[in-house]
Amino acid sequence: MELSNAERKIIENSIRDIKDFPKAGIVFKDITTLLNDKEAYGVLMNHLYQRYKEYNLDYIAGIDARGFIFGAALAQMLSIGFVPIRKHGKLPYTTISEKYTLEYGVDEVEVHIDAFSGVQNPRVLMIDDLIATGGTANAAASLINQAGAQCVEACFIIGLTFLDGIKNLKEKTDVYSLVEVN
Ligand code: AMP
Repeated sequence: MELSNAERKIIENSIRDIKDFPKAGIVFKDITTLLNDKEAYGVLMNHLYQRYKEYNLDYIAGIDARGFIFGAALAQMLSIGFVPIRKHGKLPYTTISEKYTLEYGVDEVEVHIDAFSGVQNPRVLMIDDLIATGGTANAAASLINQAGAQCVEACFIIGLTFLDGIKNLKEKTDVYSLVEVN
């Protein structure tokens, strides 16, 4: 199910641009103004629910940290489990990890080795607020596969289409982004 133009506008208008954060030249897409706008947050979550209720998903994997907000809420709406993909050193049990380059730095993501072990051939939706270079999402999709699950689709509220992140990630999984920034 696709988003209507009216719904897309409501979501788009609720996202705030912060110039030169966290460093010069970056336009940071601030989703806190989407979260505290009950209409925009409601339109977004309702759309995600309508789209993904037909996908036969077993888990949502949310990327640290803003992917947790949307991912955990959607998992609860779909009555399925939620798995956090966290930055290095935060998860207490045995992990699988992957390094990646960010639009502004280098980092590493991890997932618990048994995170998807509750069902056979688990179908997973990966979610984050934004895809830029795609480094984070690519590393996270690899982790999902290494942990024995299938990443059915990667979902982002915002896609920066002037970078190659979406194009590169499409080699690994289907990609859905609601608001595209050129
Ligand atoms: P990337 O790995 O380059 O695709 O970067 C994606 C991750 O970094 C996501 O978790 C985003 O939350 C964050 N991020 C990167 N660029 C921006 C930006 N311009 N505005 C907001 N968040 C960003």
